[in-house]
Amino acid sequence: MSFDSLGLDAKILKAIEEQNYTDPTPIQQQAIPVILSGKDLMASAQTGTGKTAGFGLPILQKLVEQQAKTNNRSEPKRGKRPLYALILAPTRELAAQIGENIRDYSRYLAVRSLVVFGGVSINPQMMKLRGGVDILIATPGRLLDLVQQNAVDLATVKILVLDEADRMLDMGFIHDIRRVIAKLPKKRQNLLFSATFSDEIKSLANTILNSPESIAVAKTNSASEQITQYIHRVDKRRKRELLSYLIGKNQWQQVLIFTRTKYGANHLAEQLTKDGIKASAIHGNKSQGARTKALADFKSGQIRALVATDIAARGLDIELLPYVVNYELPQVAEDYVHRIGRTGRAQNQGQAISLVCIDELAQLKSIEKLIKKTIPEIFTQGFEVDPRIKAEPVKKVTAKQAPAKRRRVNHTRTSKNNQNSMTQSSHHTYSKTH
Ligand code: AMP
Repeated sequence: MSFDSLGLDAKILKAIEEQNYTDPTPIQQQAIPVILSGKDLMASAQTGTGKTAGFGLPILQKLVEQQAKTNNRSEPKRGKRPLYALILAPTRELAAQIGENIRDYSRYLAVRSLVVFGGVSINPQMMKLRGGVDILIATPGRLLDLVQQNAVDLATVKILVLDEADRMLDMGFIHDIRRVIAKLPKKRQNLLFSATFSDEIKSLANTILNSPESIAVAKTNSASEQITQYIHRVDKRRKRELLSYLIGKNQWQQVLIFTRTKYGANHLAEQLTKDGIKASAIHGNKSQGARTKALADFKSGQIRALVATDIAARGLDIELLPYVVNYELPQVAEDYVHRIGRTGRAQNQGQAISLVCIDELAQLKSIEKLIKKTIPEIFTQGFEVDPRIKAEPVKKVTAKQAPAKRRRVNHTRTSKNNQNSMTQSSHHTYSKTH
């Protein structure tokens, strides 16, 4: 199947071609016709499958058609541009990523899109909304702030997208989502994307979606086949040494490393730097400026190793990222799939290596059960495990260390509160007017 057969506008096709997309990915093949037909959609697809274009392209197509209709009417246009599509995302990174993609795909269209998230001054965002935008990509909290300040009117929204809905629930956004939905018109098209479908997600879907079409690509929990996975057994106290050795010996120039805690991420980045490997940490406690810089340095090759926690890495899209290392296995097996999904994206090959100490064998087992395969093991001479070391229980990440589980309780929105309570929102506004 080619993009030409999907009924997209020539200007959209041109933009896609410039992205070097030759054929639609499976999620795009299935989602685009459903969305164009006007039906609600429940899609099981994780980042890396091309889901953003899966909803972004048909939204742009429908918007272009709507604009053509309005332009044909002879009456003069009144007021500002009505908001056409609202895309909700759980994290600032994901929101920014979606915004970038939409901007790329709408390069040749007269479409305005804007990304908003909290943690930064709201005023510039209000200014940008003043003239109206067609597509708004937002994290839920900041969107509510903007609604409360009358900076955006949701009554005109024709299409609602909930991206990474499972993560939004994990992050405690359910009340915010419901408050946003209460402000939308009853008649609208709803698209829900989620990597996993827990009972909680299914019940959310039941209340939001109207006779949806369901689609699923690649098995939700199966790791991409383009990713070669290995485990390397190693004693905990020798992990850092082994990691530096592997990076050096294999000459990895760009490696994303996952730790379980923010403290662990900082500490490891410092240690790698001491070992002569340029490294930075990226996690929720870092300022947005520091995160953006670390990511930019990583993308441009100025740093070789980016050490991240699960939440911070969500939505990161690093083209051609060849190596992912699980320095520590995640507590939740599904996170393993998300982590390794950072590599081997689209048509590229990737390698994921997990350093597993004796304490983590139970976690490894549940990961292998989830992905339904045994991950092959590799060895390095000199790093054999010491059989005398006995397993100790893995400490749970405490609520303080794990912002994902923190519930947002304070809905009073003064600017000071925003700074404090919006840890998942953002410091940047991306906008583009064409
Ligand atoms: P996503 O799952 O939306 O985060 O997309 C993952 C990556 O795949 C992004 O880098 C996209 O630019 C890329 N991508 C999306 N659609 C295609 C396609 N049809 N062909 C090649 N790459 C694509």
